[in-house]
Amino acid sequence: MPIRLHDSLTRASRELKPAQPDGIFRFYNCGPTVYAPAHIGNFRTFVVNDVLRRLLELEFGPGKVKHVRNLTDVDDRTIGQTQKEKRPLAEITKKWTDLFHADCAALNCLLPHAEPTATGYIREQVSMIEVLMDKGNAYRAADGSVYFKVSSFDGYGGLSRIKERELLVTDTTADSDHKNSVSDFALWKAYKPAEDGDVRWPGPRGAGEGRPGWHIECSAMSKALLGDTIDLHTGGVDLLFPHHENEIAQSQCCNGTTFAHHWYHSEHLLVNGTTMSKSKGNYYTLGDLVAKGYSPMAVRYALLSGHPRKQLNFTLDSLHAAESAIHTLRAFRATLPATSTAAHHVFEPVIAALHDDLNTPAAFGALFTIVNRKGGEADRVSFDRAIFALGLDVSGAQPAKTEAPAAITALAEKRWAAKQSKDFAAADALRKELAAAGWSMLDRKDGYSLEPLKK
Ligand SMILES: [Zn+2]
Repeated sequence: MPIRLHDSLTRASRELKPAQPDGIFRFYNCGPTVYAPAHIGNFRTFVVNDVLRRLLELEFGPGKVKHVRNLTDVDDRTIGQTQKEKRPLAEITKKWTDLFHADCAALNCLLPHAEPTATGYIREQVSMIEVLMDKGNAYRAADGSVYFKVSSFDGYGGLSRIKERELLVTDTTADSDHKNSVSDFALWKAYKPAEDGDVRWPGPRGAGEGRPGWHIECSAMSKALLGDTIDLHTGGVDLLFPHHENEIAQSQCCNGTTFAHHWYHSEHLLVNGTTMSKSKGNYYTLGDLVAKGYSPMAVRYALLSGHPRKQLNFTLDSLHAAESAIHTLRAFRATLPATSTAAHHVFEPVIAALHDDLNTPAAFGALFTIVNRKGGEADRVSFDRAIFALGLDVSGAQPAKTEAPAAITALAEKRWAAKQSKDFAAADALRKELAAAGWSMLDRKDGYSLEPLKK
């Protein structure tokens, strides 16, 4: 059964397969901007893409997938942060790159095969810009910046289906004074000493010193590592316009060929029914959730619990349920025979659900149907294949039961009572108190259990 996935460009479900004769599937996923910690909304996209990567490897073979995910380490936001903190760009981006890597590892995401940084590919970006200028798709503005001329590319708006008229009203960039048309976008931004500090590189021929625009970064890194045409390009839905629309314009005008055969966008994450923001108190990083006593595996499970193309409402209650599901899976695995019983078909419904537009909730449903009938003829080999696709690490032994001290049990009783009477603020405060004392409380339908937090 082939992998079928929704394609944002044609708005249809299409089969994923490598287009080039070498049989390598070329996959580019827009990575994080490393100027702050990634939040769990960002990680929804990365975890969904990790399942996609795993599924592609199961389908085509591990050596037959090339997965590239970039790091945006120079753009308006990273430079803004260097100005705010008065520290060098490299120092800031390294700090947040290291945290991003640690969070990805905790969430059991496979490393991409290449992780280029925008600052590592300046020359490639400059040469793409020069080609675009030579071909008449880009022009130098009075201040030394270079802009892409949107009217030079007939296909513009094909992905987002945005019309020229709408472009005029959506464009609010401050540097529009120098453009010929407000819909044009920057490929190269001229150096501004007051804003850019020491962040600057020699520009394309005829342009001044400066730095690349964000969109050209991905076009150039994708071309350098995967070639002119790739099989799949993905990102969060917030990147569809203008970022991905602009990538298509740049790459297709420069390379004269199709940029990506397939586009996939995962939807937004809501927290407690609304968009995440620090002022609403519903903004979480992975670190915030771990400090509350939740395991990264439960976070991964919760992020995959909704269909990736629908908005997902994340709540702490959904995380309690996820924690309990992970425990069930770990306990179930321990009951399975370690040797293969050749019953590989048992978990095939899990893989089949993922092959059908990456339907992760259907995959969990299929998985628990098997778990609830105690596995039948299942064995660990077939279980591990399904679990590999979902990227859940449930292979370790069930954490040993440790008797909680009386003071901890008393806190837990208080919290359980608060939760039963729907005093969620008190329940949450008590959970924090338990976490501070080194204990995590897992809620089930009929009660709770206490686990010591891993150090
Ligand atoms: Zn990108």
